[in-house]
Amino acid sequence: MEYFLDNYIKKPNFDFILTIDCEGYNFDKNLKNNVLNLERLLKLNSENNIYTLLFITPFFAKMMNELNLIENIKRNYKVIFGLHIHPNNLPESIEKLCPFIEKNEDLIANYSYDEQKTIIKHCYEYISKLGIEPIEAFRGGYFSIDDNTEKILAELTPIKYESHNIYRPQYKVTKNILTSLPVYAENENEELRLEYFNIEKLSKILNKGILENKKLFGITHSYLLDPNDFHYKRDKIELDIHERMNLLISIINKYR
Ligand SMILES: [Zn+2]
Repeated sequence: MEYFLDNYIKKPNFDFILTIDCEGYNFDKNLKNNVLNLERLLKLNSENNIYTLLFITPFFAKMMNELNLIENIKRNYKVIFGLHIHPNNLPESIEKLCPFIEKNEDLIANYSYDEQKTIIKHCYEYISKLGIEPIEAFRGGYFSIDDNTEKILAELTPIKYESHNIYRPQYKVTKNILTSLPVYAENENEELRLEYFNIEKLSKILNKGILENKKLFGITHSYLLDPNDFHYKRDKIELDIHERMNLLISIINKYR
């Protein structure tokens, strides 16, 4: 199958794609409010000719479906779909099929090959059945992925790409069975993440990437979509991700 990303990565000039980890109840304490604010960010990006790559968990897909958003966003915005998995935060229908899952185990790569296979199969089927397709890429929760994960994805699903901060210790890929689209990062802590850092530092990271003429994959999280979400106060984040994205767009547009 021909994907958007196949052609995209071949283009010679710098470009920016915003990736969003679309989580679920583990981080989205008010999942509905965050999903209801998704369209606003997609609209802002699309109007500025920026694609948004949504890494979606089963719980997030379920809420999107309940709010009738799936067909709507496919029709109206520049979106690409990816699969996101936190093994210890799955709907009951999947959990029942994975009795080996441990409550305190966040990382998919800490499971055996056969266990990962069961988790991935059911998560992939769950979100594609809701109409989330094509699914072009994968991102593990906390950037967890290893060679088994990649092998399984390549065998069981049409996914061809993975996107992680490759400097994190949880990124354990050695064979690159999938094509890597790394989050733009200098090291394990400094990455092009919308909600990290003050605006000055964030702009500096973006400018550096643009001057390197790279395909820049930025990252943010669904639990910040609602500007009133508790994470803003708790983590003392100034300016919400919509406002921060707006600032990045003004920089990107200067170079285009
Ligand atoms: Zn996540």
